[in-house]
Amino acid sequence: MYDKWLADRTRWFDASGIRKVFDLAAKLENPVNLSIGQPDFDAPETARQAAIEAISSRKNGYTPTQGAAVLRQLVQKQVDEQFGAGVREAFIASGTSGALFLTIMTLVNPGDEVIIFDPFFVMYDALVRMVGAKPVYISTYPDFHIDVNKVEAAITDKTKLIILNSPCNPTGSIASEQVCRDLAELADRKQVALVSDEIYKFFCYDGEFCSPAKFSKNVIVMDGYSKCYGVPGWRLGFVHGPHEIIQQMLKFQQYTFVCAPSALQYGVIGAIGTDMQPILNAYRHKRDLVYDGLKDYFEIEKSEGAFYSFPKAPIAASEFVNKAILERSLLVIPGNVFSSADTNFRISFAASDETIEKGVEILVDMVKKM
Ligand code: PMP
Repeated sequence: MYDKWLADRTRWFDASGIRKVFDLAAKLENPVNLSIGQPDFDAPETARQAAIEAISSRKNGYTPTQGAAVLRQLVQKQVDEQFGAGVREAFIASGTSGALFLTIMTLVNPGDEVIIFDPFFVMYDALVRMVGAKPVYISTYPDFHIDVNKVEAAITDKTKLIILNSPCNPTGSIASEQVCRDLAELADRKQVALVSDEIYKFFCYDGEFCSPAKFSKNVIVMDGYSKCYGVPGWRLGFVHGPHEIIQQMLKFQQYTFVCAPSALQYGVIGAIGTDMQPILNAYRHKRDLVYDGLKDYFEIEKSEGAFYSFPKAPIAASEFVNKAILERSLLVIPGNVFSSADTNFRISFAASDETIEKGVEILVDMVKKM
């Protein structure tokens, strides 16, 4: 009976890939866990205290839809300093996920095409399908860098949006300044929206982060505090882009999320300005542990950013990951969760150095015995 109650859109996307891994994982007692997509460090003390203080001082009501004035103004000031005053409008969203949802609701019609780079963050594919649009994949294998000519060739008169994620989940690759410039110019020339998901921009190990928004006022930027301040449960993100688009996104926020969590908006103000450089150095070391440990045994790109590595498995990735989980209690995610190819697997190095070392040892031993 319930089948008849369900809206068609429940059938347009599924979450079975990742669920299968977590079902397998649930059977393990003490797994070596390299599957987690959130930082292994906690929120700065100043942020935790600011959140407690906000609750104690009764900041428990709604905030304005666009965010508590102090936080929104702070973000707007940062955006103005970077891109010039009056160019881009900013607001606070319920996580970067919330921001992505509002973007898709605001910009994408059923039947539209949305360009996604494969491998991709799973939510992009699901959100596009959820509104009855069609994801168009552009492969970035084998080195996970974007070929802008392929993007141009994929644009049709149905293309509405291109979603860029740099640094990238799950590959750890970063779009170069040239790619950012070319993509922004292409999007403008073709009058297609370019959405830039910059949630991992803090985690750049070898160079400066570049946003395509540097090259066009039309780029819509999604960002958030989950990863850089270790507060993924706080559900705080922000968006900046053209005034006309932001106003429409706020209309959807008003009737869905209403506002981002109030006390936590005040809490995160306590984190802004904290010196996070030691964390970045520690994560660069974790990246090196993975790369140096695996490079002689796997086809692997050195991650430039985020906290993921995406090596190629010696056999079908789903089979390799099954073996890793069931025979070695090592949790990693098969690439077919993030991709149309079942060739690579995702290692998250948001874990202790000891866990990373154990995981690397297991993977090397598995390869040696194949
Ligand atoms: N974008 C990317 C690429 C992500 O990996 C994630 C979280 N895994 C998000 C967005 C969502 O982040 P949040 O909603 O916690 O801000």
